[in-house]
Amino acid sequence: MKHYDLVIIGGGMVGASLACALRPLIDQYRWKVAIVEANPLPVRSDEPLQPSYDARSTALSYGTRLIYEQLGLWQQLSERVTPIKHIHVSDRGHFGFIRMSHTEMDVEALGYVIENRWLGSVLHAELAGTDQIEWLCPASVTEIRAAVGGMHMQIALPQADEQDDKVVEISAGLTVLADGGRSSLASQLGLGEHVSDYDQCAVIANITTAKSHQGVAYERFTDQGPMALLPLEQGRSALIWTLPEGLADDVIELDDAGFLALLQERFGYRLGRLQRVGERFSYPLALKWATEQIRPGLVVLGNAAHSLHPVAGQGFNLALRDLMALAQVLAEGAAEDQPLGDLRLLQRYLKQQQQDQSNTVGFSDQVVRLFSNDQPLLAGMRNLGLVSMDMASPIKRWFTEQAMGLGIGNRQQSSALDSSDSPGK
Ligand SMILES: Cc1cc2nc3c(=O)[nH]c(=O)nc-3n(C[C@H](O)[C@H](O)[C@H](O)COP(=O)(O)OP(=O)(O)OC[C@H]3O[C@@H](n4cnc5c(N)ncnc54)[C@H](O)[C@@H]3O)c2cc1C
Repeated sequence: MKHYDLVIIGGGMVGASLACALRPLIDQYRWKVAIVEANPLPVRSDEPLQPSYDARSTALSYGTRLIYEQLGLWQQLSERVTPIKHIHVSDRGHFGFIRMSHTEMDVEALGYVIENRWLGSVLHAELAGTDQIEWLCPASVTEIRAAVGGMHMQIALPQADEQDDKVVEISAGLTVLADGGRSSLASQLGLGEHVSDYDQCAVIANITTAKSHQGVAYERFTDQGPMALLPLEQGRSALIWTLPEGLADDVIELDDAGFLALLQERFGYRLGRLQRVGERFSYPLALKWATEQIRPGLVVLGNAAHSLHPVAGQGFNLALRDLMALAQVLAEGAAEDQPLGDLRLLQRYLKQQQQDQSNTVGFSDQVVRLFSNDQPLLAGMRNLGLVSMDMASPIKRWFTEQAMGLGIGNRQQSSALDSSDSPGK
């Protein structure tokens, strides 16, 4: 059985970002690391990416930019991001709205929209240049169990000649479960999960609009649920449209003209006539969080630890702050000569991130629930809230800071970015 100091299960946006954050430590301490990823690796960033109208994207907060700057990756990432200069929050059928602007916060942009495959290809290129990191890919962890000194895993590696998968066993001092909550591994370990269903689906598509988005991200709340249109390259905007379950399937099946007409009726004409829509995808929505995120030799990260409503654009940004805090704690542990999977070390990590996690999960959940409710009294109070928030700068500043990923609980993280002994330096 091959032994690794660290195994990361899932080389998605979170698993790959963690490996980048740990790269200086991996090189310094000569840790043996494996990343097990079920999907084939994306193309390398030095090869041109084929343009795709339908590419999926993610809103990165300003705090996330600071983290990738610290990791030395922002310059390359920024070659293909669209800055969010302003955020416009409105409530359909009511007059109140909030406008947030980068000038009020004295920053170049409140956040950035990036195509996921560009982010993936930059992260994977960064990880390509080290012998200490072994990619087991495409390969799936099929079984996991606790053992003395860490975890044992069984890996299935598909064979090119389509014969049965090759099965190998590995062990690790620290295993990071970053599988997006998509496999049976958490339940094999008996890790519990809280699920709070929104009874909604998110319909995702890229849209071309008659008017330029001018770097404005629109968040619009409707009686059926919130929607967002985020600015993208090449005149496109990325739509996240929350709809009640059942209705989402009907909307997805509309022809392009029918889809655009319905969306126009719900979104309005702030971006002029909606002209083109690409492929549509639908995701069922629930707030999920793992009841245990750490055990001896185990940390749960990313969507496997907490999966949020996408409209507030907080899920990945929170996961990135988590993994930076983990990297910081592992750096401290290595300096103190502690084993990587030491429970006290992992408890230190969780203690540090708990407030940020509960603030961020609470913020996005409350916003979604408050604005998905069309009860007249609540709708009136909400509208009043939006009007007064637009006028009261301290509350608006607080709201903007949450959206920028710089709220209370994670401010510590952003100030730690300046510290020279942090792991990415
Ligand atoms: C529609 C939508 C829009 C969103 N928009 C935003 C946004 O704007 N801003 C934001 O901050 N967040 C956003 N999010 C949330 C964000 O996408 C997630 O937080 C992020 O994708 C979580 O990444 P992850 O690496 O944890 O999981 P994933 O991206 O799911 O990656 C998990 C990886 O693990 C691999 N894997 C799974 N099981 C195994 C196994 N057994 N063995 C090996 N590999 C395995 C998978 O192949 C996959 O590559 C959005 C989410 C959705 C659904």
